[in-house]
Amino acid sequence: VAVREILLLGHPGLYQESEPFSQSAAGDCAGVARDLHDTLMDFRHKYGYGRAIAAPQIGVARRIVYMNIDGPVTFINPVLEHLSSETFELWDDCMCFPDLLVRVQRHRRCRIHYRDLQWNERTMELDGDLSELLQHECDHLDGILAVSRALDLRSFALRSQRALLGGGDPEG
Ligand SMILES: [Zn+2]
Repeated sequence: VAVREILLLGHPGLYQESEPFSQSAAGDCAGVARDLHDTLMDFRHKYGYGRAIAAPQIGVARRIVYMNIDGPVTFINPVLEHLSSETFELWDDCMCFPDLLVRVQRHRRCRIHYRDLQWNERTMELDGDLSELLQHECDHLDGILAVSRALDLRSFALRSQRALLGGGDPEG
């Protein structure tokens, strides 16, 4: 088991743009995906939430996102396409700042284009929860954190205060 350290808010590694994988380096993806899996499961065990993780969060500046909800999905070199201008607001969270919630706005629907571990081209339609989750994770690949998308000066809260907050529960 390779549980990696998760970089925390303020670490310079979280603010850099990650490099895409080339097909010749596709063999390295499986190792990164395994570390992402182990780290996500360890976090979920400790904190009780966590659906997906991006490679920069464990200090790997490569364009790979790992999600595990009903089963594992690895997104290599993902590209998001926003399908509608319709947006919604929610309290977002992040494994890089486990105690903090941030009010953000996300697109309701989008489509993600990516390569899987066998280097097949794939697309997935995303709606609501999944849509905001993958927008959050793909932001990590561009060095953007949810705190940079805060709606206004009142858009920050400690997780301990979540019962007092209105509208759009954090999903983890
Ligand atoms: Zn995050």
